[in-house]
Amino acid sequence: MYVIGLTGGIASGKSTVSKILFEAGAFILDADQIAHDVVKPHSPAWADIVNTFGKAVLCTDRTVDRRKLGNIIFQDEPARKRLEAIMHPHVRQCIDENLTEYARQDGKIAVVDVPLLYEVGWQQLANEVWVVYVERDTQLQRLLNRNGLSPAQARARIAAQMDLAAKAGLADVVIDNSRELQYTRSQVLAAWKQAVKRAALQ
Ligand code: ATP
Repeated sequence: MYVIGLTGGIASGKSTVSKILFEAGAFILDADQIAHDVVKPHSPAWADIVNTFGKAVLCTDRTVDRRKLGNIIFQDEPARKRLEAIMHPHVRQCIDENLTEYARQDGKIAVVDVPLLYEVGWQQLANEVWVVYVERDTQLQRLLNRNGLSPAQARARIAAQMDLAAKAGLADVVIDNSRELQYTRSQVLAAWKQAVKRAALQ
């Protein structure tokens, strides 16, 4: 089976690209969704989070309050590292299991959307990596519009990730999402066609 790793920066357009790929028929795994699933109440990752950060990071229904946890980790680097050390092995295991199952069903090509693929060093997960790139000012503006953060908070979240231009420099395929959606869509569909050919040759 052939795996495309899809990554980029916060609010750079990974979900937008992933939706276009889904509509084109791709099988998609979303690491953010998996990260949600692995912290279901009383799961091993949930228990580790409660032990590490305390019950104050839970909602009344005992699910993890992502906003509270987000506020803690974006102001506290060691806390962010502790959370990542809890989450990454669980998320990786779930991705690997899903890929194995898809291959067992004779799946030929899969897209794995992993926002922090380079930061975590999971490039080997994929046969090729696509980076969704956007110019910095546009990224900041889209993040502000979407999340209702202050400009300082939005900048801090962008700064907490590896530089997006550096990621684009490492990518096998760069999708430029700085312009209108139609421009993005045509790049994605052309790149998908080429990737399907590479997968068939593998
Ligand atoms: P995150 O990882 O932070 O959740 P993401 O990389 O998946 O974000 P999207 O959610 O796809 O990014 O896009 C971020 C925001 O920018 C969304 O509100 C989306 O609607 C908007 N957006 C994405 N692409 C474009 C575009 N080409 N033109 C205008 N707005 C866009």
